[in-house]
Amino acid sequence: MYTTLDIKTEPEGFFDITARVQQAIRSEGITEGICTVFTPHTTCGITMNENADPDVQHDLRLSFAQAFPSDRRFRHMEGNSHAHARSSAMGASCTVIIEKGRLLLGIWQGIYLVEFDGPRIRQVYVKCIPG
Ligand code: ZN
Repeated sequence: MYTTLDIKTEPEGFFDITARVQQAIRSEGITEGICTVFTPHTTCGITMNENADPDVQHDLRLSFAQAFPSDRRFRHMEGNSHAHARSSAMGASCTVIIEKGRLLLGIWQGIYLVEFDGPRIRQVYVKCIPG
């Protein structure tokens, strides 16, 4: 059993899914265990990072754009290889410990779906294993 979250995105950006992941854990009734958050797409990513200062998200977006710019030498016909590169670099999942029914995150951490090639409706799967 797992929970599917549908996330409506914009052309680019960070979408905080922490509360929805927490709700999925609550719905499954898991109090102790491991939670995996996974997105089955190739041009977005999942990350955990700063949840207080939105300038951090801006700076991370800029960093990924600088590290993986579009390049006219790319061959992929869809024209979004820069988004595929950013997705691979960021990764498609994260794993968090569940303690007392809650995500065991740092006080400044949130879980984000990061869009590199939107807008789209993205799916995120949340799977919790008790233990
Ligand atoms: Zn593509």
